[in-house]
Amino acid sequence: MHDLIADMRELLEPSAVLTGEQLGDKYSVDYTGENPHEPLAVLRPKTAQEVAAIMRACHAAAQPVVIQGGLTGLSGGATPRPGEIALSLERMSGITELDASGMTLTALAGTPLQSIQAAAQEAGCLFPLDFGARGSCQIGGAIATNAGGNQVIRFGMARNLVLGLEAVLADGTIISSMSTMLKNNAGYDLKQLFVGTEGTLGVITRCALRLYPRLPSRETALCALKTFDDTVALLSASRRHLTNSLSAFEVMWAPYFDFVTEHVENCDSPFEKRHPIYALVETEGTDSEADSTRLETLLGEAFDGEIVADAAIAQSEAQREAIWAIRDGIAEIARMLTPYASLDVSLELERTQAFLADVDTALKEAFPDVTILVFGHFGDNNLHVFVTTKRHEDLEQIHKITYGITGRYGGSISAEHGIGQLKTGYLHHSRSPAELALMRTLKAALDPLGILNAGRVLEVEDATAA
Ligand SMILES: Cc1cc2nc3c(=O)[nH]c(=O)nc-3n(C[C@H](O)[C@H](O)[C@H](O)COP(=O)(O)OP(=O)(O)OC[C@H]3O[C@@H](n4cnc5c(N)ncnc54)[C@H](O)[C@@H]3O)c2cc1C
Repeated sequence: MHDLIADMRELLEPSAVLTGEQLGDKYSVDYTGENPHEPLAVLRPKTAQEVAAIMRACHAAAQPVVIQGGLTGLSGGATPRPGEIALSLERMSGITELDASGMTLTALAGTPLQSIQAAAQEAGCLFPLDFGARGSCQIGGAIATNAGGNQVIRFGMARNLVLGLEAVLADGTIISSMSTMLKNNAGYDLKQLFVGTEGTLGVITRCALRLYPRLPSRETALCALKTFDDTVALLSASRRHLTNSLSAFEVMWAPYFDFVTEHVENCDSPFEKRHPIYALVETEGTDSEADSTRLETLLGEAFDGEIVADAAIAQSEAQREAIWAIRDGIAEIARMLTPYASLDVSLELERTQAFLADVDTALKEAFPDVTILVFGHFGDNNLHVFVTTKRHEDLEQIHKITYGITGRYGGSISAEHGIGQLKTGYLHHSRSPAELALMRTLKAALDPLGILNAGRVLEVEDATAA
């Protein structure tokens, strides 16, 4: 180990290798704060060639490595396990090419998502991947977790925005699949090996991304609803009326909405009365007048059909931000109600209501004082179920109960946050034995020594068992 660190100091510039007191707390845990471990060292390369040299040396020494992006992940994927070296992409940041007419952007993997959004906007384009951690997460981390966020209903997840990738394998081989072409059926689409596989098959070092034209018009409404069926009807009407311009359909159930509007600063309800469910509907397009007419027609029909009980349309950017602040208030709630289980599940729409009823009954039976707050990307069938008793010792049982029910309903235990280390024991609820076996085969083929992000997605003994 000592020799390996000494080799790294020779290979990289001195400030690229951190050990001992230089480490601080920063590299010990991701956003979950669960199971922190100080890495043996942090290596901070600047180029793909340096990443390749690090991986060659670690492979030769059978040294386990954890890849770290912005550490905003919500599944413990970037949190070191005992005995791991951390490979941080924080110094591999920058946009290397932006083609506004071809609508493509090339960036190093450590570039913050927000910098990519800003560069696209400056060039008159849009990079539509967006979520709360935009300022601190890196594009490499967002691709490795196939992050989703607020505009998936229209633009898809990170996977849909990646045209090409460069990655380094566990043995140091550089795979450059940096095509910027929309169409490329020349053999296997190798970049998909690295999208959403949470760093278990390679280190993403560079990416070519797809941009869209900037959308100058945006209309946002908050709707109050009486029932789940009304919410489904509003989603269906929104898809019909707003067609391709529907960019967000976020739903908050009353316990979440009431908690945020009562306890979080600057999150006031625009409604006089309380309602069982709330939907945030947003449309983005190129013609402000036509977009606003379409939204008003949608809401007019929804009122006439008694689908919507009340609605508030944002008349300014400040009002739009005030509506989104309620939806984004979860970050503040998480700080208030820690420790908590933040479940991120996907379900078929028609099974969602029964699923939520079963989860509610089972959790309240197990923990009579439990708080359950549900909200999420309803238009993508993705629910965030926030559960807390404020007792750390209850978390495992909460996960067990909820993921068991998710499996019974044929849902996914991770819609967008990934499996990381925290959900490996539950993956069998959403994947068949044959699917798990194929994952193990891929892992063993690309990382036969099991040194790269071991214990993420697949349990350690699984990963090397193929
Ligand atoms: C406030 C907040 C809101 C969020 N909202 C959403 C949301 O709406 N939708 C959503 O999908 N997610 C959301 N997330 C979680 C989201 O997954 C992460 O923010 C982001 O995708 C991870 O990026 P990161 O750079 O921080 O990665 P990290 O946390 O550092 O790492 C995440 C995983 O990716 C691996 N990894 C990191 N970089 C690389 C790389 N270059 N190559 C290979 N593997 C790598 C790590 O080893 C780890 O397994 C949110 C997080 C926060 C804190």
